[in-house]
Amino acid sequence: MSSFGSWLRQLGVKISTGFRRFMEGRYGTDKLNTWILGVGVGACVIAMFLPAVSFARLVLVVISYILLIWAMLRTFSRNTYKRYQENRKFLLLLDRVKDREHRYFTCPRCRQPVRVPKGKGKIAITCPKCREKFVKKS
Ligand SMILES: [Zn+2]
Repeated sequence: MSSFGSWLRQLGVKISTGFRRFMEGRYGTDKLNTWILGVGVGACVIAMFLPAVSFARLVLVVISYILLIWAMLRTFSRNTYKRYQENRKFLLLLDRVKDREHRYFTCPRCRQPVRVPKGKGKIAITCPKCREKFVKKS
């Protein structure tokens, strides 16, 4: 029995070092992945409450599979720089969605994002980068 226990322990060590080696140089997980997985699982749960043979259920199941596969591909990706940039863009977008006190515009000339306070009516915005002036409703 004890030899089986030590065999099991060795197997555990083998699997964990094998997995660590497999994950070497790969991206792993991040906040964007957590969201992708969350939405994927959410779609799957909603699908369970829909009639078994329905178009909506089929669509939700397909979406959840695509999201789960996408999250997996990102986790095992070797292009860590690209994955990092994706996550950074996502976090920026998340911040903007959460920000209820400002509106975000893009400068029509240099594409620089510009943040202005919300609810001030029509205002003239001066781009901080290229000094281009444009009027927007905030
Ligand atoms: Zn500009």
